[in-house]
Amino acid sequence: QHYLDKINRYDEQLNAYITVTDEQALSAAKAADEKIANGTASALTGLPIAYKDLFCTQGVRTSCGSKILDNFVAPYESTATQNLNSAGMVMLGKTNLDEFAMGSSTESSFYGATKNPWDLNAVPGGSSGGSAAAVAADLAPVSLGTDTGGSIRQPAAFCGITGLKPTYGRVSRWGMVAYGSSLDQAGPMAQTAEDAAMIMNALAGFDAKDSTCMDKPVDNYMADLNKPIKGLKIGLPKEFFGDSLDAGIRDAVMQAVKQLEAQGAIIKEISLPRTELAIPAYYIIAPAEASTNLSRFDGVRYGHRCDDPQDLADMYIRSRSEGFGDEVKRRILVGTYALSAGYYDAYYRKAQQLRRLIKQDFQAALADVDVIAGPTTPSPAWNIGAKNQDPVAMYLEDIYTLSVNLAGLPGMSIPCGMQNGLPVGLQIIGNYFDEAKLLNIGHQFQ
Ligand code: GLN
Repeated sequence: QHYLDKINRYDEQLNAYITVTDEQALSAAKAADEKIANGTASALTGLPIAYKDLFCTQGVRTSCGSKILDNFVAPYESTATQNLNSAGMVMLGKTNLDEFAMGSSTESSFYGATKNPWDLNAVPGGSSGGSAAAVAADLAPVSLGTDTGGSIRQPAAFCGITGLKPTYGRVSRWGMVAYGSSLDQAGPMAQTAEDAAMIMNALAGFDAKDSTCMDKPVDNYMADLNKPIKGLKIGLPKEFFGDSLDAGIRDAVMQAVKQLEAQGAIIKEISLPRTELAIPAYYIIAPAEASTNLSRFDGVRYGHRCDDPQDLADMYIRSRSEGFGDEVKRRILVGTYALSAGYYDAYYRKAQQLRRLIKQDFQAALADVDVIAGPTTPSPAWNIGAKNQDPVAMYLEDIYTLSVNLAGLPGMSIPCGMQNGLPVGLQIIGNYFDEAKLLNIGHQFQ
């Protein structure tokens, strides 16, 4: 009730939520109270949480921030949300996002832009901007986001919270509406690394319903939080500190690195030479996958259907033309083009080759250091409207996050200071399945 009251009071300004599930939340809270009373509660029982509106939630609208799914009520629950519900967590509602998670600012949502709680004129980042803003403004203690190219880490950085993108395959993607299937991963967004670790304990794990989900024992992410980081080798990629990095962000990140050094970490300069190629590779691969994934929204099985279709083609064309926004249409066009016969070798195959090289760069670097650290974003949150007419300017903002998804590695953003009244994020990238190490560093830093 406390959180529902707060949402009721403040969300009109922020627009972090698309749907608030008051009644369900109160009855789930009551069930949690009973569990606590009869001694069957888990650590998460009764804790409220908000879910990005991209996770299918049974009986509750799952819009993906799109007109085409405005009327879609999922008939089943995603594994990620089910895992947390089963642990006793209480869903407060579904949070705003860029349409189908395509964007870095949460401005492309059919439901309007979300505002950054630190400055209502600034974007909260994206695509999980609603999940980040909700936690930053304490309209939810924790939330779930998804990250295809930075959508957990970048909004976490812009809103001054902690966000973890797990290793690809650590969390089930079943019931998470697909954007780039080889890149998408769900993860926690929280006030602290400790809170994120608690969520990870219930969220991670094998799921036979997702063929890319790893059948590998899940660490206890709480176990190592208090381990000293003395002797830990941290690599700073020189390509992450180039000219495009805002000077204030550089200062805040270097200060954070000094603090880690003071705690006994060993700092080393490293190189990820193919960093710049991540943007062109990602902006071929992600739209290519999106163009095939989004072909299911055809007005036939679910979602928006145009009025009075003349024939099947007319129905497809008008339903999709009316249902999708500009950025989604742009990605479908780019992806379809890149995959078409005659262009496949020039674009898609090339991008996949770059992807392999980018992954090799990380593997070489991580053979030498335990983790990689740098800024999460090249600049702090920009003003609403400043970049949404210039898609390429927006894509360039993803420079430090995209490569992590291309390589399938875990990455985390933790708050490391302020720049002109806006938060700055420190990104820590680990080796495969090293989430516990990232959370340990986050906890020691905080
Ligand atoms: N900004 C990137 C994109 O628009 C990443 C989004 C995401 O991670 N979902 O594709």
